[in-house]
Amino acid sequence: MENTNEKTLAEQLKDQLLMNPENGGIRMDDAVIAKAGEFCEAYKTYLDNAKTEREAVTTTIKMLEKEGFVPFDAAKKYSAGDKVYLNNRGKALLFAVMGKRPLTDGVKIIASHIDSPRLDLKPRPLYEESQLAMFKTHYYGGVRKYQWTAIPLALHGVIVKKDGSTVTVAIGEAEDDPIFCINDLLPHLAKDQNQRKLFEGIRGEELNVLVGSLPFRDDKISEKVKLNIIRLLNEKYGIVEQDFLSAELTMVPAHKARDLGFDRSLIGSYGHDDRVCAYTSIMASLQNAAPECTWINILADKEETGSDGNTGLNSRFLEYFVADLAKPYGIEGRTVLSKSQCLSADVNAAFDPTFPDVAEKRNIAYIGYGVVVTKYTGSGGKGGTNDSSAEFAGTVRRILDDADVVWQTGELGKVDHGGGGTVAKFISRLGVDTIDIGVPVLSMHAPMEVVSKLDVYNTYLAFDAFLQSK
Ligand code: MN
Ligand code: MN
Repeated sequence: MENTNEKTLAEQLKDQLLMNPENGGIRMDDAVIAKAGEFCEAYKTYLDNAKTEREAVTTTIKMLEKEGFVPFDAAKKYSAGDKVYLNNRGKALLFAVMGKRPLTDGVKIIASHIDSPRLDLKPRPLYEESQLAMFKTHYYGGVRKYQWTAIPLALHGVIVKKDGSTVTVAIGEAEDDPIFCINDLLPHLAKDQNQRKLFEGIRGEELNVLVGSLPFRDDKISEKVKLNIIRLLNEKYGIVEQDFLSAELTMVPAHKARDLGFDRSLIGSYGHDDRVCAYTSIMASLQNAAPECTWINILADKEETGSDGNTGLNSRFLEYFVADLAKPYGIEGRTVLSKSQCLSADVNAAFDPTFPDVAEKRNIAYIGYGVVVTKYTGSGGKGGTNDSSAEFAGTVRRILDDADVVWQTGELGKVDHGGGGTVAKFISRLGVDTIDIGVPVLSMHAPMEVVSKLDVYNTYLAFDAFLQSK
């Protein structure tokens, strides 16, 4: 009799010839799953400490300095094992470790972004209407406006006073802090609003934040509530109304990162996009402190608004950094860059069973199936895409398989149903081989985004494997 455990020819061929995607929960053993959970405890803390790009920079620099990184000096010649960081205006960060191999062999780059969609305050935010004090906001990045009403908000940012001194603000995070919120209509009176298209359910100029209601006791002036608020701000921060002009203040969700699900397999949080790739790449980088090949880790700002501005990757700070690193060796920056490889580390959309219509089921990424490699992004006929070469995709595939990383491929939704892009194209145009890779996310850009711990951990493993690769 035939052994029933023996595979039929069809089964054998299936194993050999067909892709067999498998949930990481099946592929990974219990010890690794436990490790992934442990890894994510510190990730949650990072999320809570880094709700803005500035806070991400500050938090990351603390981690780097503990590991011996020092501020980059463009005049110095660095050699193997040297650890440097470049703080770009407190909003973007680049850090690197010099490898043993010459810079002419190229460098390994991992680039993520640390800005997330949010509601920025306008330059003249504070006003009073019907005895309520409010802030006007201007949304930043791809925000679905209706999601931001009737949830607790916290105020984060900096105010630069006329004398040049800077005040750092974070209100709404501590248990006894006040919070803020944007009000919405009650259902009883929402008959007209309910007829609006979802895009207009809450309009941009309706994203007004309630910040107070108590008047200053004086009969002689108008706008007593507004005066009372600015009086409190003056007491606490020493600011006057004009100081809002030279401030970057932003409303972000006040909730903390939490385990999600009975099995605690997921994390619900604000700002996974893209601090999940920032954190995993930082941890992988710190694991590779004596690399063969020089690596550069970039935490960019402004990705959510198109990467423009001098802290975004559509500026030249990466190019200048590489040029400065290479100059003492008499090497041109472009010589280094054209031999370099980059993982453009950003999240991708995960399949949502509630909204299957926007997904192409055979090519979208799935929660729990590991880190997502995305060969191309863009919209329409791949408009605005980097579209990695087959050769570099092959290199990355080999690196991930050799390290036994759980990974999958992904495409952002159905063809012609929208689209998006990342920083990949701004790095590949420097001559760098670049591919997109990152964590699949549910409810991307919502005040609460969801990721799987197994995917987060495998993203860390992928970055680690990339930095170690020959
Ligand atoms: Mn992103
Ligand atoms: Mn995004």
